[in-house]
Amino acid sequence: MVRVARVRRNSIAADLEIPPGAALVSINGRDLRDSLDLRFYEADAEVVLAVSLPDAQSIVYEIEKHPDESLGLIPELDKVRRCTNACPFCFVKGNPKTTRLRQPLYVKDDDYRLSFMFGHYVTLTNLRDEDWERIFEQSLTPLYVSVHATDPDARLRMLVNPRAALIDEHLDRLSEGSIQVHAQVVLCPGMNDGQILERTVRDLYSRGEDIISLSIVPVGLTDFNSDRGVRALSAEECIESLAVIDAIRERASVELGRAWCYAADEMFLQAGVDLPGPDYFDDHQLVANGVGAVSALISAVRADLPNLPALPGQRIVLVTGTSMRPHLAGLAVEIARCTGASIETVAARNALYGPMVTTAGLLAGADHARALEPHRDCDLALFSRTALNDQDLFLDDLSLQELRRDLPELRILPSEHVTDTLLAL
Ligand code: SF4
Repeated sequence: MVRVARVRRNSIAADLEIPPGAALVSINGRDLRDSLDLRFYEADAEVVLAVSLPDAQSIVYEIEKHPDESLGLIPELDKVRRCTNACPFCFVKGNPKTTRLRQPLYVKDDDYRLSFMFGHYVTLTNLRDEDWERIFEQSLTPLYVSVHATDPDARLRMLVNPRAALIDEHLDRLSEGSIQVHAQVVLCPGMNDGQILERTVRDLYSRGEDIISLSIVPVGLTDFNSDRGVRALSAEECIESLAVIDAIRERASVELGRAWCYAADEMFLQAGVDLPGPDYFDDHQLVANGVGAVSALISAVRADLPNLPALPGQRIVLVTGTSMRPHLAGLAVEIARCTGASIETVAARNALYGPMVTTAGLLAGADHARALEPHRDCDLALFSRTALNDQDLFLDDLSLQELRRDLPELRILPSEHVTDTLLAL
């Protein structure tokens, strides 16, 4: 059974007056277990929908529609499948001990449904027989899998779960069921770099089209999980890993016509080398995983430059994380030239997680407030929208509204890539 949270306007469900709170029981005789079932079974031309209304009345709707047309029912959030691993580098363990953060930040999810629907990376260690059956029955492809290492012992040490060693068997099973995979390696020095990384890259590449891509992401640590036997990669270790990645990229470019393996932006930033251009990332499918995000942002800004409004004399401040600042400062010069505005770029220090966390999306509301305080006299302040959730709350539960209330002189706006917001002024 799936509970309706909202109904889209001008949708089939709105026409049928199905109210929020109604329970969706079945479609075409199949019980609905969750939002994935709803999405899967509503994709039909003829839908027989059994609903239990909030007043306990049961109704069966017979609907004819285009198979691609959604019913317009937004379900309540599903209960998330929890992770059964104990990675020493787990981001949940990296949360601060004293400040209470938004609740989802404490959830160790490892949910194959979220992997299919939203690209969350999963480890496959918590799959039951019925989950495997469902993956094949509903053809949940592609899935996003945190492989980390194909060496069973190395993966076992990283995930601290005996089932982690079964990665080869699990990948075989997926490929037998025609499920493709976007693979990921979170690179931890001394655990899965060096020869283990070489083997992982080789093993995954040898699986052919079953593995669509491989992203290599350096481990991200905070002040709170950096004492658990994992340390950050050094610049030299990043450079060595980039060489392993480059070798397979060269081979893949010749054999597949695309590079297949991608280092995350952070790998270049930590190595202290230039970020690659947009061609490095092929089709930019993996931006959400920090792979090509900076390059995509630079491309988006440059595309907007000719259309920017004139803003002569305006004083604008851009808040970002310490790793992005040099790149944003370069773009700010170009934006200033096109608009006539005076633009300053400020790197906010992450006081919530500590200085090892340098991305804009993990800055708290208080970090933004501190960074903006000396710039109260500017006309406009922009910061990355990725620092907010859907309810406009920062990680530390400070709302955008509260930030604005604390700095009333300043117009503060969240932004995707700066120029999108300037174009909408
Ligand atoms: S798999 Fe992810 S959520 Fe689970 S322990 Fe490891 S890092 Fe944490």
